[in-house]
Amino acid sequence: VNRSDVHYFGAGPAPLPTAVLEEAAQVLLNYKDKGVGLCEISHRSPEANAILAETKQALITLLDIPDDYDVLFLQSGGSGEFSATVYNLVAIWVEKKRAKIAEEVGDNQDEVLARLRKVVDEELKLDYLVTGSWSLKASQEAARLVGAKHVNVAADARKANGGKFGAIPSEDQWSLTPRTAGGGPALVYFCDNETVDGVEFPAFPKSLEGDDAPLVCADMSSNFISRKVDVRKYAVIFGGAQKNIGNTGIAIVILRKSLLPPHATPASPDLLRQLNLSVGPIVLDYPTIAKNNSLYNTLPIFDVWVAGQVMLGLVNAYGTKRIGGQEEISNEKARSIYDTLDKYPDVYRVVPDKSVRSRMNICFRVHGGDADKEKGFLAGAEKKGLLGLKGHRSVGGIRASNYNAVTTEGANLLVKYLEEYAKS
Ligand code: PLP
Repeated sequence: VNRSDVHYFGAGPAPLPTAVLEEAAQVLLNYKDKGVGLCEISHRSPEANAILAETKQALITLLDIPDDYDVLFLQSGGSGEFSATVYNLVAIWVEKKRAKIAEEVGDNQDEVLARLRKVVDEELKLDYLVTGSWSLKASQEAARLVGAKHVNVAADARKANGGKFGAIPSEDQWSLTPRTAGGGPALVYFCDNETVDGVEFPAFPKSLEGDDAPLVCADMSSNFISRKVDVRKYAVIFGGAQKNIGNTGIAIVILRKSLLPPHATPASPDLLRQLNLSVGPIVLDYPTIAKNNSLYNTLPIFDVWVAGQVMLGLVNAYGTKRIGGQEEISNEKARSIYDTLDKYPDVYRVVPDKSVRSRMNICFRVHGGDADKEKGFLAGAEKKGLLGLKGHRSVGGIRASNYNAVTTEGANLLVKYLEEYAKS
């Protein structure tokens, strides 16, 4: 089967632009005529440094990332960032509390520690908006690391939706930890696009805005660089590269610099241990990664190169529109697929509520979820070269992932098949 004969709608790892892969095959063998391939050269070589700088700059350009933000590359995957956000922001929260207590009681260390223990015990809260299986996993990881009593599930989308994901509760129903002077939650976390459940936040939540806004962490693994983002509203944005950006192997973190030394100091590992809080691995420590320009340890430079090529492709394609150019195309592809599904309500049912339908992962059922009919639908699609449409194993059904590398031609062919199937 030729690559050009199929369109792949897998949810991740996901398709990459063919031109990038063709060049990748070359650079693996011989990078810039050095006679050595890109996976063979040092991550500290001038070539690797140039790739890192270029990739960083492409992301900064695309998303208009302000100067007071840093871009980090880690090998954590998306899931590693579930832990990294907790480790890093809890350590900052604890140190702030320690400094304040020390101001009040002077340098009586025993007294500081006793008071701090009480404050951690009573006040440490991490807020999670659970809107799908990935934010659920992130909240479970937080509970594993700091203890369930410190995790406040401020919204659980299953509650008012018959026990299933597929909606986002309205903000007046959220129970966020109150913002107080010098207090509030260590972080507020949400997943911007839930890959399994096909739920995407239509916009940044209003209740997380304002001068005294909490530190917001967002997982953008499956909708990274697919729409404009007001980066300033976030403390941390992260995503695994393997959906919209590149191949598996790296995660990208956009981090507010005020969370790094000298602006913010994390609590020392000794102090965290005394408070029975876990100490994170050094490879997830944002200050360490930032200080070393993402080269604390061996960074897979080939993966960074792929991400860079994909992003430079978008920079070149959309010019001053930047990511807005891709956003228009993503929206249009998603619109045409959803419109077709909606046209045949007797055949198709989109799973999530209309108000939160993901532009990236289009989840639907065929004939009410009849297993044989869905199997037949998938088999028919495969015959037409439309691959990777099976829903996630935990929820079943059909999922068409509409990432950036899915071409308009691919989306149109899917629409054509949806029409044909419905009419048959
Ligand atoms: N977050 C989201 C939204 C995802 O879709 C995924 C993976 O599919 C992850 C996190 C986990 O990423 P990884 O497998 O790189 O840990």
